[in-house]
Amino acid sequence: MAAQTLHHVTAVTAQIERNLKFYTETLGLRLVKKSVNQDDVSAYHLFYADAVGSPGTDMTFFDWPMIGSAVPGPGTVAVTSFKVPGESLEWWEARLLEADAYPELAPDEFDRSRIQFTDPEGQRLELVDDTGLAGQSTPWSAHVPPEWAIRGFFGVELDSARPLMTQRVLVELLGYRPLIGSDDTFAAQDEGSYSQIKINHPDARRVGRVGAGGVHHVAFRVSDDEELLALKAKIEAAGIQTSGYIDRFYFHSVYFREPGGVLFELATDGPGFASDESAETLGQHLALPPFLEDRRAEIEAGLKPL
Ligand code: ZN
Repeated sequence: MAAQTLHHVTAVTAQIERNLKFYTETLGLRLVKKSVNQDDVSAYHLFYADAVGSPGTDMTFFDWPMIGSAVPGPGTVAVTSFKVPGESLEWWEARLLEADAYPELAPDEFDRSRIQFTDPEGQRLELVDDTGLAGQSTPWSAHVPPEWAIRGFFGVELDSARPLMTQRVLVELLGYRPLIGSDDTFAAQDEGSYSQIKINHPDARRVGRVGAGGVHHVAFRVSDDEELLALKAKIEAAGIQTSGYIDRFYFHSVYFREPGGVLFELATDGPGFASDESAETLGQHLALPPFLEDRRAEIEAGLKPL
């Protein structure tokens, strides 16, 4: 892969039951993995994606009931956008209205219609007409008719504390190109996937904060370990510190904070979510990576049933 499209977006919830209901029953995503935060096993980590957990379709949540609300501003993700079929937007508007998600038809951007709305904790989300865009996903049809289903991520909007530096990371390290006629929106396209990222210039006197109803980090796709390590070396050579290589079991990762303040991750496409449970039963049981399996009884005792 020469350009890094989105792999997943991880956000924070303080109300896991409402969160689960909204992302599955209202948005129609499938809970493909119910696990714990590998760095804080007292917290659930829920993964919502398409029917098979394809990379590029997965919005995940850490359950941190005691965390304060997210504060918008520099160093945070302002909006997360999903692709939907253009002819479904009216249907979605009615559905989101009924779910108290405050849908609003927003002005077209680059000839694409879109609806902005919020999840139950004020997380800013968007559905964008995906006409002509590459991307594969396998809709889950339990709550939303497959022809209207969300088809993975369209992109994110970043509130950068240093917009020009964020732009350099996207263009020079992650393979993004400016959209024609724009100086703040960038796109990556590769092997059947597409992502668009807008860099906002927020009021630099404020500081944003990660919290409930906000995004924790944005992950970009790399095809395999070889590409992951090559990109890690390139990022470090540019003077940006990384977490080093981390085996997340479902994928392999490297984290780094881009100069504008947002936490970025690189994540491999494989091994994937079906590596420890069958495609039919994805998300039904608490899944733990092998290195946590011998602590299962203790971990389960510390979680509320869901
Ligand atoms: Zn992640």
